[in-house]
Amino acid sequence: MTGDERLIKSYEELIEREAPFFNSLEDARKYVVLNSLKGGTCPACVQTVKIYPRKFNNMMALSLIWLARVSKEGSLWIHVPTQAPRRIIKASCYSKLQYWNLVRYQPNENSKHKKTSGVWSVTGRGVRVARGLKQISTIAYVVDNFVLGHSDEMVFIQQALKETFSFDQLWNDPIPIVYATKEEK
Ligand SMILES: [Zn+2]
Repeated sequence: MTGDERLIKSYEELIEREAPFFNSLEDARKYVVLNSLKGGTCPACVQTVKIYPRKFNNMMALSLIWLARVSKEGSLWIHVPTQAPRRIIKASCYSKLQYWNLVRYQPNENSKHKKTSGVWSVTGRGVRVARGLKQISTIAYVVDNFVLGHSDEMVFIQQALKETFSFDQLWNDPIPIVYATKEEK
């Protein structure tokens, strides 16, 4: 038996022992859906299946305003990993802004690379939210990067910034920009 075969065999044993058993795929799916809010075990692979409520937090709000400013409200693409201030890189939540359709990213030219390009911009909706002109759902419900829906509760970005950051300051302070990439498409 090869190493791979041994691994597969142990995994089969693990599933046999740990996974809930169902007679049909339909029953298994029903079980996953019903348990995914609190986190349930997948009958096929023993991984936890969970719907994650992602809250629109103050660092997301800060990242959105920064990106809206440096991208000149969506007219430039920005290579975030090299151009963003350290606190935005550290919080690493700008990609989650996708859950609300606030940002878009440039797909990697070379499709062989699985890594994302790191090049981002804001959407029109992102600009309106960043400007405090449009409300946003406080929570996005996400499974494996798919957005299932949003909460009914809405906030303006000023509320999401809380007392931590000042909306006026974020829009008016000079921002550190290393350089900006030219609009490519
Ligand atoms: Zn599974």
